[in-house]
Amino acid sequence: MSKSPQSKHAKKSSTTKMPAPKGSRARTAAARRASTGASSTTKVKRAPATAKAGTRAKLGTPRGSSATTARGAKSRGPQYVYSFGPRGADGNRDMKDVLGGKGANLAEMCSLGLPVPPGFTISTAVCAHYYENERRYPERLQKDVEAALARVEREVGKRFGDASDPLLVSVRSGARVSMPGMMDTVLNLGLNDATVEGLARVSGNPRFAWDAYRRFVNMYADVVLGLKAKSESHLCPFRDAFDQKKKARGVREDTDLTAQDLRDLVDEYKRVVRERTGKPFPSDPREQLWGAIGAVFRSWQNERAIAYRAMNHIPASWGTAVSVCAMVFGNLGPDSGTGVAFTRDPSTGEKRFYGEYLMNAQGEDVVAGIRTPHPISTLADNAPAAWKELNRTVQLLERHYRDMQDIEFTIERGRLWMLQCRNGKRTGFAAVKIAVDLVREKRITREEALLRVDPTSLDQLLQPVFVPEELAAARKDGRLLTRALNAGPGAASGRIAFSPTEAVARREKGENVVLVRIETSPDDILGMKAASGILTARGGMTSHAALVARQMGKVCVAGAGELEIDYAQRTLSVGSWTLSEGDWISIDGSSGEVYAGKLGTQSSDVCAVLLEGAKPGVDSIYREYHELLSWADDARTLRVRANADQPDQCRNAVAFGAEGVGLCRTEHMFFAPGKIEAVREMILAETTQERVLALKKLLPLQRADFEGIFKAMAPRPVTIRSLDPPLHEFLPHDEPSIWAIARDLNVLPERVHAKVEALREQNPMLGLRGCRLGIVYPEITIMQARAIFEAACNVARDTKKKPMLEIMIPLVGTRRELDLQADVVRNVAEEVFAEAKIRVPFLVGTMIELPRAALTAGEIAKTAEFFSFGTNDLTQTTFGISRDDGGKFLPHYIEQEIHADDPFATLDRDGVGRLMRIATEEGRASRPGLKVGICGEHGGDPRSITFCDELGMDYVSCSPFRVPLARLAAAQAALRSRRS
Ligand code: ADP
Ligand code: MG
Ligand code: MG
Repeated sequence: MSKSPQSKHAKKSSTTKMPAPKGSRARTAAARRASTGASSTTKVKRAPATAKAGTRAKLGTPRGSSATTARGAKSRGPQYVYSFGPRGADGNRDMKDVLGGKGANLAEMCSLGLPVPPGFTISTAVCAHYYENERRYPERLQKDVEAALARVEREVGKRFGDASDPLLVSVRSGARVSMPGMMDTVLNLGLNDATVEGLARVSGNPRFAWDAYRRFVNMYADVVLGLKAKSESHLCPFRDAFDQKKKARGVREDTDLTAQDLRDLVDEYKRVVRERTGKPFPSDPREQLWGAIGAVFRSWQNERAIAYRAMNHIPASWGTAVSVCAMVFGNLGPDSGTGVAFTRDPSTGEKRFYGEYLMNAQGEDVVAGIRTPHPISTLADNAPAAWKELNRTVQLLERHYRDMQDIEFTIERGRLWMLQCRNGKRTGFAAVKIAVDLVREKRITREEALLRVDPTSLDQLLQPVFVPEELAAARKDGRLLTRALNAGPGAASGRIAFSPTEAVARREKGENVVLVRIETSPDDILGMKAASGILTARGGMTSHAALVARQMGKVCVAGAGELEIDYAQRTLSVGSWTLSEGDWISIDGSSGEVYAGKLGTQSSDVCAVLLEGAKPGVDSIYREYHELLSWADDARTLRVRANADQPDQCRNAVAFGAEGVGLCRTEHMFFAPGKIEAVREMILAETTQERVLALKKLLPLQRADFEGIFKAMAPRPVTIRSLDPPLHEFLPHDEPSIWAIARDLNVLPERVHAKVEALREQNPMLGLRGCRLGIVYPEITIMQARAIFEAACNVARDTKKKPMLEIMIPLVGTRRELDLQADVVRNVAEEVFAEAKIRVPFLVGTMIELPRAALTAGEIAKTAEFFSFGTNDLTQTTFGISRDDGGKFLPHYIEQEIHADDPFATLDRDGVGRLMRIATEEGRASRPGLKVGICGEHGGDPRSITFCDELGMDYVSCSPFRVPLARLAAAQAALRSRRS
């Protein structure tokens, strides 16, 4: 065992005053280099550190100036225990996989010379060992921990378990990423009936000592011994005893209890422990320590942690580390305190020191809500010296980490101690503002800024929001009904409508409506359009409701299984609530929360500027948003288009930066009033002649739609898909509607019935749909092509801007299908051009959405002038999973790790992706320069976009409100591939 050179500096007071060890930065850098295993000084990609790398990091530390480690210099297998303290540390911030996030950053802060109480971290390798060896520790661990503990004792000048002047420690858990569900921290460990007296004497403050003991017994019993409230309707037994004590003593503040009161409480707490566990509270400090360490490792496999890992794709093999840290006390009197803070505002990103603290309090008090904490800015009045040092420290930390920091600190008798730092969590607003500000401050490059913002968080900047005060009030009043999938971000408040008809009727009266459905289908479209928000009880993130809502930019909460929706009674029940049609309801599609009653909303800053032409205010987030996305546009190679089928959607798409339309679904236009009748007439037609007549009525209506779209988009490309869904989707299925149609069309209801019956299919998604419709009824394709080309010619003539058309044939499986439809399209084009005496450029291509199409892409590309991957259908047909029914079992599949992700949300690279690769390569081999894009839902998913970039696609297409996300994700993909 090597002798610690700093055992002389035994007092905390002397160690804090000490300047950072000379060359600590250089040493950190050296250690970091060593941990990568790279010998050169050039920046290399940091290899994930392993326990072994950690050993090397330590060995790379120059002798003498180093923090002594718990072990001799000779290597004896993997290092399990890493020391840290005011003199330096074994580890550094790049060793999160060994030390956990907390341990790695504690070590880093030590190396920076910041005041951190000394301690040590037991590595994640021990956690792995523990689970691989029937919950036993490595043999050497106990000795190593003892050695590390001895070192802490020397640094602090107190001994663990010493009845005259005890060293107390905290035991803290920490995985690679911060993880709710892990064991909570235990403070003041090492107290018992003997040491508490010593603490009382040394501190000269018996009240403090007994309060510390009381807290310790409470925390230890709760988090280590698992002594919780008996049920949800019971109080925590300790909280209960504490409150009764306060009542009996007639005091309001915790701090008003006397030492004797607290002593009584400790007895009471210990009695509860004995009663509930059948064993006395452990009084041996070492037993306490190992008990807490074991509890941390066990908590890695508790239900909450497992569930959290499953949700966030964190492998169980990572394990957690345990940090043991000498206690410092924020509850020693009015010149002590504790707090948490951010170097910038985590919700707005504003550059101001932001946080809260309490004087005369210990860690958990600030968040526990027992006392109301004070804003950090007032700390200057209560602890001027610590305030100054805190400011210096956080500035140093932010510069060092080059990102916003989230810190935890304690002030002991006027002196600052740092207990934690990490890159702070933040809202989408703050993420954008901080990234751009850091570039302006020359702290990071544009590329780094682009890589720091999670593309999906941009959604938050586009959506209307609840007026913050009203939201807080609703929460306080207990109006939160349920939480479900945040399927379409934003906030909407409106009156409940249980049917699309009701939604439309109420909207026409000028009401705000939330459409509440068990699930939605295509014939709900008008109701969805009329509604401000959509709430469903069934369906996932890619359910019809979610998909359409996102395309329309509607707020949507989906899959709220707790809601009981009764269409007959027109009621919605959940818990003790029952709401009726016309009642107010408020849904937050960003958080998935549903509230009873009305909540005010306001348009987001960015949308007000982009869509409503407002001027950005001085401190509007629009400026940063705009700047970041313009950098993204410079960086990306993929083009971004939008899926849009209405002129207003197209205008929004362009405002959001879309460079074209990647998918215009013609059938969406069919549902508009005035059109659906003609569509139904066309479907009900008995002869080709009747059908042609009905289609004649549709022609001018479709033409007008296309004119609107082309005007909004020209000269940008617009991909128009010919009719795709099975015809039965356009027919009603309930009796009154069937009668109404029969009346409108002047036919017998039986005929409508018969047609509905005739069109019924066992498996409509694989039935008469897609190009099959156009093959069986060519007159449909003829009408659509005519509407498209006439509209294009009109717009070209009127606006002098030529639309760029891409006519897309869906569900092609063989080249011959495409040949037939392409011929129809080309013939109509020539007819129309001849009539109009004007030509517009156009391509005819196909969707690749069947495995056969992908596998024969080389052949199909001989006819197709472009490919667009319809990855929704391609995923359905590759997996043989219906998207509409997958919700029943996909969650189980994801839970059991059969699929890492929902394949309808994130592209399956290995299967669907392989087909896409084959199609792209073979398509381009037979037609060099073939334009390839994607128009499935995956076009708006960042990880799928990365894959599209790797495939060398020309563009991705997604809903208008996802265009900004896609621009950023495409930039990130390009930057990452450039780096590797
Ligand atoms: P969490 O992961 O929940 O933030 P921490 O391990 O950071 O848990 O502990 C929570 C709080 O407990 C810290 O912010 C700090 O206030 C307090 N704490 C932890 N260790 C110590 C210590 N050694 N001395 C004083 N307070 C501590
Ligand atoms: Mg915690
Ligand atoms: Mg913490």
